[in-house]
Amino acid sequence: MTTYSAPLRDMQFVMKDLADLDGVIELPGNEEATPDLVDAVLEEASKLASEVLSPLNKPGDAQGARLGDGGVLAADGFAAAYQQFVNGGWNGLSGDPEYGGQGLPELVLTATIEMWNAANMSFALCPLLTAGAMEALKHHGSPMLKKSYLAKLVTGEWTGTMNLTEPQAGSDLSAVRTSAVPHGDHYRLYGQKIFITWGDHDMTENVVHLVLARTPDAPEGVRGLSLFLVPKILINADGTLGERNDVRCVSIEHKLGIHASPTCVMSFGEQEGAVGFLVGEENKGLAHMFTMMNEARQKVGIQGLGIAERAYQQARDYAKERIQGRPVGHKAGERVAIIHHPDVRRMLMSMKTQIEAMRAFAYVMAADMDFARRHPDAAERERRQARVSLLIPVLKGWCSELAIEIASTGIQVHGGMGYIEETGASQYLRDSRIASIYEGTTGIQAADLVGRKLAPDQGEAMTDLIREIRAIEAKLGESGHEELKAIRDALTAAVDALQLATRWVLEIVGRDPQAAMAASVSYLMLVGYVCGGWQMARAALVCKRELPSLEDHDFHRQKLATARFYADQILPKVDALRKAVTSGASTAMALTEEQF
Ligand SMILES: Cc1cc2nc3c(=O)[nH]c(=O)nc-3n(C[C@H](O)[C@H](O)[C@H](O)COP(=O)(O)OP(=O)(O)OC[C@H]3O[C@@H](n4cnc5c(N)ncnc54)[C@H](O)[C@@H]3O)c2cc1C
Repeated sequence: MTTYSAPLRDMQFVMKDLADLDGVIELPGNEEATPDLVDAVLEEASKLASEVLSPLNKPGDAQGARLGDGGVLAADGFAAAYQQFVNGGWNGLSGDPEYGGQGLPELVLTATIEMWNAANMSFALCPLLTAGAMEALKHHGSPMLKKSYLAKLVTGEWTGTMNLTEPQAGSDLSAVRTSAVPHGDHYRLYGQKIFITWGDHDMTENVVHLVLARTPDAPEGVRGLSLFLVPKILINADGTLGERNDVRCVSIEHKLGIHASPTCVMSFGEQEGAVGFLVGEENKGLAHMFTMMNEARQKVGIQGLGIAERAYQQARDYAKERIQGRPVGHKAGERVAIIHHPDVRRMLMSMKTQIEAMRAFAYVMAADMDFARRHPDAAERERRQARVSLLIPVLKGWCSELAIEIASTGIQVHGGMGYIEETGASQYLRDSRIASIYEGTTGIQAADLVGRKLAPDQGEAMTDLIREIRAIEAKLGESGHEELKAIRDALTAAVDALQLATRWVLEIVGRDPQAAMAASVSYLMLVGYVCGGWQMARAALVCKRELPSLEDHDFHRQKLATARFYADQILPKVDALRKAVTSGASTAMALTEEQF
């Protein structure tokens, strides 16, 4: 089995040459993040990922988390690894310095999140949820809640959870029934939540739950939801840990993958009621939760990238070792490793290029998040934020769907051994499968993209994006290089398709919302492939420009080759998706319910 090794060269290239690390570092408040520091952070993170987290991935999958008498027990080795993670300051990498964080840019955090997820997705989920809780508290928590909980979450001494789902309330949170009854300066919560990631464990002394619940006279639907902080252990007035709160994990799910990440059924208020504190305003819970969910959605997109990279590394190494057959056209002579066969190359190339495209897309978005937060010009902040809001559902949906496809291709590269647990290839497919489901399924991301992002601004943020991609097209054309012109032609066709599909969606969404929604996932995937192609084209431009003056020719030549492969072999999918969007999506509704 391959041990994960972070693709630092590509990460650094993407950060510096595509995501404008220099510009990010110059933003007010980012003064500490010097280029040397960023390089050192990546080096150290890659060591932790490959030396500590990666070796626990397979044993964690085999053993899984377990429910003991006193609560959930993490898989062997996880608690010690988590302690190392916390001691290294990794949890608070981009956290608010006022609460003990290091305040490093989102862009740097993104690279580390890719590494944690590639090394051990089950482990990485725990800090991912904590980050969401931190974000919700930072924006909406009272000074008292921030003082008592935020610093512990930032350092990672305590972990956070996100409690939305109930048996009857999954994608549709209007059906949430957990109740919160006022009780002096706090509330008492009663109800059951299901599928709660890292809802309980023995890696930290306390777990801080953020819970959606309904107050007694709250309006029906999502407008009656409020957000509460419910600690596993209550805190005394002097800040020390006190009594156990009335919340517990009653069972953990047996599931397809991420076995070492406990997926808990949580029970609130079996006795006197779980003590909870209101976060933000009553009945604004969903809006507050969205702060957390947007963060989490972006990070699940990165998770898809990480797990895809892991699947690729495993498949690449296997393809170099497995001897089978002779080179095309040779009936006799030495048998060769399967990497010599063109179809295996095709599979590896499609994995590698799409991963590079996902990485570039994800990191550029992370940089946009940094600019949206800290750029001195308000108009630029607004523009970047509009871009981020538009593309978060695309990053989440596209990267998580591609991760499944890439992990599946990884199995195919292994042949029969891919289907056998021993190689580890199947774990990546099992683990990746959840990313397109939690934090909103791909269908929900697509509905968000079309209904809440594209339609309300009449496609303005999308038009801005298209304009930027067209500028790259023009540069590719001006270059005079045949290679870049070929990439330009593919990009032009893809952007034309994006423009047509966008126009169709905008036109139809008001008139025939069902047709728009039936087309929405194809549209989301189309946008994702174009964004990937846009970044690969930018990479090709940088490489061609810098190739003659660079010592590192090999990396840049490789990049040109992967950019060309993406243009030739992946971008043509966009036109097929455009046709699916504009011509036939409404036929999804052609049969009656009985005809299925
Ligand atoms: C391993 C795991 C970990 C999880 N972790 C957490 C967690 O930490 N906290 C938490 O609160 N929840 C968590 N969840 C729950 C997860 O977020 C939900 O499973 C997910 O949102 C989908 O909800 P559902 O399972 O009820 O599916 P449903 O909502 O029943 O959806 C079923 C299908 O119908 C489609 N669908 C439903 N409504 C619509 C619609 N309006 N438009 C289009 N399509 C629609 C969906 O896309 C899906 O294909 C986790 C789930 C799992 C399996």
